[in-house]
Amino acid sequence: MEVTSIKDGVIIDHVEAGTALTVLDYLNVNPSTTKLALIMNATSHALGVKDIIKIEDVADLNLDVLGFVAPHATVNIVHGGQIVSKIKPELPRRLIGVVKCKNPRCVTTTETGLEQRFHLASAARREYRCDYCDEEAER
Ligand SMILES: [Zn+2]
Repeated sequence: MEVTSIKDGVIIDHVEAGTALTVLDYLNVNPSTTKLALIMNATSHALGVKDIIKIEDVADLNLDVLGFVAPHATVNIVHGGQIVSKIKPELPRRLIGVVKCKNPRCVTTTETGLEQRFHLASAARREYRCDYCDEEAER
């Protein structure tokens, strides 16, 4: 398959194999209503196997969320069938309203209407912790 088989949109390359659907879920991209192509378990020199996501006509892509869920990804911006730029998402310092705290005693669980807020606790371990109770975020 051609790498640039979409005309205008994004290609998210080097997604960890088997996680493409999780990544779409985090990005709030609905696979049943969005023009997209998934290539799962493609051969990759860097990762062994990888997933590739191609989304046509995407309005805005949350790179913070992408950095959290697919930190090794490369985002290729495609215009007119050509890759015009490449972006490496970085681990965001903060995650607001992206993941829910799993701690049943956390104030965000017991009180409704509180924003879910996490901060990057360790970049090396890609570890995020709840601002309120310090519980680690799960992907
Ligand atoms: Zn918490």
